[in-house]
Amino acid sequence: MLLRHTLKEEVKREALTINPAKTCQPVGAMYAALGIHSCLPHSHGSQGCCAYHRSALTRHYKEPVMAATSSFTEGSSVFGGQSNLIQAINNIFTVYEPEVIAVHTTCLSETIGDDVDQIVAKAKDDGKIPEGKFVIHASTPSYQGSHVTGYANMLKGIVKGFAQPSDVPRDQLNVITGWVEPSDMREIKRLCHMMGVKFVMFPDTSDVLDAPQTGKHQMYPDGGTTIPELQSTGASSHSLALGEWSSLEAAKELDRKCKVAYDVLEIPIGIKATDRFVSSLSKHGNVDVPKMITTERGRVVDIITDMQQYLWGKKVALWGDPDILVPLVEFLVDLEMKPTYIVSGTPGKKFKQKMEAILKDAVPDAKVANGPQADMYLMHQWIKNEPVDLLIGNTYGKYIARDEDIPFMRLGFPILDRIGHSYFPTVGYSGAMRLLEKMLGLFMDRQDRDAPEESFELVM
Ligand code: SF4
Repeated sequence: MLLRHTLKEEVKREALTINPAKTCQPVGAMYAALGIHSCLPHSHGSQGCCAYHRSALTRHYKEPVMAATSSFTEGSSVFGGQSNLIQAINNIFTVYEPEVIAVHTTCLSETIGDDVDQIVAKAKDDGKIPEGKFVIHASTPSYQGSHVTGYANMLKGIVKGFAQPSDVPRDQLNVITGWVEPSDMREIKRLCHMMGVKFVMFPDTSDVLDAPQTGKHQMYPDGGTTIPELQSTGASSHSLALGEWSSLEAAKELDRKCKVAYDVLEIPIGIKATDRFVSSLSKHGNVDVPKMITTERGRVVDIITDMQQYLWGKKVALWGDPDILVPLVEFLVDLEMKPTYIVSGTPGKKFKQKMEAILKDAVPDAKVANGPQADMYLMHQWIKNEPVDLLIGNTYGKYIARDEDIPFMRLGFPILDRIGHSYFPTVGYSGAMRLLEKMLGLFMDRQDRDAPEESFELVM
């Protein structure tokens, strides 16, 4: 019993968080920056923060994550980090030769009040930023929000740094992806290609954090959205922002800066959210939905029809990022499952509203919480009082799964103890098939394990 100290009785907590269902803002900023081609993320703070953010990403993606740091000392903590950052910019462009440095702040540099805008302007004035190279930045104080907020802030920084207004519109859409796996980004691109729309997708971590083993070290892998592509987003006809928490701010900034109108959609997880994405591509890209996409959708519906008896009525507890949870819960409700407990460490008033709208008829007594006190401890308390049939969330749920003997499907960030998430998508219709296969496998394994000999079935 690793979590033997979890109490059944809930006590209202005002300030204490126990086992948070989130991580810190710069982790998200670093991940978003890696979706730009030839970009070196830079952490403006102490070495410890940068080491943590890099290791969080490296452990999840099983790829080396390169990033630089301003390496604050006691002196910079008191007097500010301007000289460290200017020296870092000079060193990085001289030694590591990226096209872009994406600076994000940390708790320390935010608390000091470093003005990164001004520091970058000074670096430019001092000739430390070579011609044709870029330094973008995002403010990511980790005492607010979560890794999702940091991701959103860096996406906004990308738009601020690159998008160029244009009087000559381009026949292309912007697809702004929320925080999903490299495999999901590849799948979103595949859907766009199948639809026949012209598009720029950013960020794009496919071929960066799932790059093939070639035997040669490549400091900047082949993937990532290129600078000309990012610059062209200001001339696109429309933006599709996938995931309100992670991509809305970037879409708004594109609208404000370049007058590119936008739609906010859910990340296309499950059938309905994928339908909405495909319909939106069809509408704004002015294309018809091809038969091969309808056929893929039909295959998902067929699996659901065949396997409905294993899914119906199953109670599920979920934790993770709001942009993943909202469409996922909708998908589970479509499968006639019962998402019973839902927590997200990421704050935002709309979370509960969206969940209530999805769950009001299907699971009216579902418990939903988000924000700092919506943590894994609370989730465990709920489960101790009334167990569920399945857990869905990141690796930190494995303690609850073991203690309570509940099947566990890993999904979200971080996954530290399995592979597959960065290689196989969970978005789109093919992603829905994968989700179904994983859930059904868990339910059937459990049924096989617990069945008395006379009910142990060969055919299921
Ligand atoms: S000090 Fe702040 S930015 Fe650094 S690792 Fe901790 S929470 Fe993250």
